[in-house]
Amino acid sequence: MQTRRWSFFLAALLCTAAAQAAEPAVAPAEDRPLTEFPYTPSLDVPSMDRSADPCGDFYQYSCGGWMVHNPIPADQASWSVYGKLYQDNQRYLWGILDGLARQSAGRSGNQQKIGDYFAACMDVAAAEKLGRQPLDAALGQIAALKSRQALPALLAQLQLNSGDSGYFFSFGSNQDYGDATQVIAYADAGGLGLPERDYYVDKDAHTLKLRDQYRQHVTKVFGQLGDAPDVAARNAATVLRMETQLARASLKPVDRRDPYKLYHMYQRAAWRGLTPHFDWAAFFQPLGLAEAPAMNVAEPEFYAAFDGLLASTSLADLKTYLRWHAAHSAAPYLSKSFEDERFDFFDHTLRGVPQQKPRWKHCVAQVDNLLGEALGREFVDRAFAPPLKTSTLKMTTQIEQAMREDIEQLSWMSAATKRQAVGKLDTIVNKIGYPDRWRDYSGVDVRRDDHFGNVQRATAFEGRRQLAKIGKPLDRAEWGMTPPTVNAYYNPQMNDINFPAGVLQPPLYDPKLDDAPNYGNTGGTIGHELTHAFDDEGRQFNAAGNLKDWWTPADAAGFKERTQCIVDQYAKYVVVDDIHINSKLTLGEDIADLGGLILAHIAWRAQIANAHLEDRDGLNPEQRFFVGYAQWACNNERPENMRLHAKTDPHSPGRYRVNGLVVNMPEFAQAFACKVGQPMVSPKPCRVW
Ligand SMILES: [Zn+2]
Repeated sequence: MQTRRWSFFLAALLCTAAAQAAEPAVAPAEDRPLTEFPYTPSLDVPSMDRSADPCGDFYQYSCGGWMVHNPIPADQASWSVYGKLYQDNQRYLWGILDGLARQSAGRSGNQQKIGDYFAACMDVAAAEKLGRQPLDAALGQIAALKSRQALPALLAQLQLNSGDSGYFFSFGSNQDYGDATQVIAYADAGGLGLPERDYYVDKDAHTLKLRDQYRQHVTKVFGQLGDAPDVAARNAATVLRMETQLARASLKPVDRRDPYKLYHMYQRAAWRGLTPHFDWAAFFQPLGLAEAPAMNVAEPEFYAAFDGLLASTSLADLKTYLRWHAAHSAAPYLSKSFEDERFDFFDHTLRGVPQQKPRWKHCVAQVDNLLGEALGREFVDRAFAPPLKTSTLKMTTQIEQAMREDIEQLSWMSAATKRQAVGKLDTIVNKIGYPDRWRDYSGVDVRRDDHFGNVQRATAFEGRRQLAKIGKPLDRAEWGMTPPTVNAYYNPQMNDINFPAGVLQPPLYDPKLDDAPNYGNTGGTIGHELTHAFDDEGRQFNAAGNLKDWWTPADAAGFKERTQCIVDQYAKYVVVDDIHINSKLTLGEDIADLGGLILAHIAWRAQIANAHLEDRDGLNPEQRFFVGYAQWACNNERPENMRLHAKTDPHSPGRYRVNGLVVNMPEFAQAFACKVGQPMVSPKPCRVW
């Protein structure tokens, strides 16, 4: 339920051949570490297009300048205010890590780990010298597989060392949907190489072509593992056939938004019936779960298909499938030829990215991913001043107060449901900046001369940390994002909203500017996360974080009627070509966007109630609130990436997160004197919260 999710695939090893030819003698500015953050105000006038009519296309009016001044960098699939800030954070972290990598004495335990991880990762010569060798251990284990009965133990090991859900399925821990105080084993679908099940099933020309390009990619990887061309092609066909069988039995992303479709508790006796050909006890044993806990099987139909696949597939084909996933999962950490091949399909073909990321980005992202709170602590010490925490916390409590008032005055909700809603609101925990207690990484062995080993050990450490939660009391203080992350989230089972330090910086939160753009931008984000507690998914969880209906039937019907207005509205918007927004997939985010900005506006009006406000840059305070909001969403995106997002991303494109929202706010029409009949004024505005 994250507000603005950005996927940063671990990719890149220096440059492609074409880029090398054009490489300048001096590194470009973005290829040097930052010691201070560049300042961009949260309302940036040059980023606007004042020639556009705000009542005709408010996104163009607010972001037209930004789109012209910020072409997509060659190593990115899209570019945005969030993406740019993330890159600034990365460059700042790069400076920290580079310093710690060079320092040999006086480092704390955590500083040794992140510094040496970074040093080992940056050692390109060592990776080249090793070539495929780090992969040989896993390939040897797969080759030695003697029978199907030995598969569960091997799978447990492969999954643990790689953290990869591509080995048939995904397994870990999660809060019990029925009792959020309990952490239980959680078995989910997985096993695919392509991003999502429809890539295996759809028959349109674009998907058929991508599928063929994927088959060619898998063939090339088998070639890299030493298979003769005809054998490699046959093996790729085997992988496609097996993955397609799993994909057909997997839920669509839109169905996975329904928590009831993901909740199926299985006790020990029931596992055998689910997968007669897969011995769960043998899978649990190497994971230290001999006690064989009860588990949630998110997608039973997927596991039935998995079992059918095991029963009908030869041992040789099972090994072929495992070899592919071993190579696929290890590619980012191997020598350049492996990374090049992975980039060529997964970034260039699938997302339209022309050029690989420089090595340092790859290495910073790995440290953030695997040792994130050790690195995050260094980041917070340098870049997140205590007054920032105080001021953003104040804004959060104001927006919660706005929601309380908003719920009380809703015309469509009964008093009984209102009481429940306010009760839930009152128990939401606000987490701002960074965790109160930092994660202990003392159990991770990080060596300066063993990058691949570091990846495996840190990955297995995290896997074991997740599994160790099963059956233990829940840690309510835990964070699901690292402090430098430029993003935020609401977790319905924890019933908490989380704003990492990385997202509370200019141009998103700007202590130098006045309230109007800050309440529009960061206030809108806080309201967005809060509204997730009451969107079509979040509303199904109660104050305790349990999946339990607390709505009267009439109020639930009233809610659905109001959200249908949003489903119908966003379904009309085109993402790219003739692909429309899948508005059932984006519904939760669209509800949160609208509710969030309405709440931020209420809180801002209360904040400035007695203040005398002046116009700035030819904009009155109301107008500055809305431009401040819109400018978080400025972005440019490659068409290939838009197609990928249309299938997988629960967020609408930035343009509609602005225009689709303001058409529903009479406050906006009033601010810019827009009239009914103009594009930015809906004749029948939608409103839920
Ligand atoms: Zn969201």
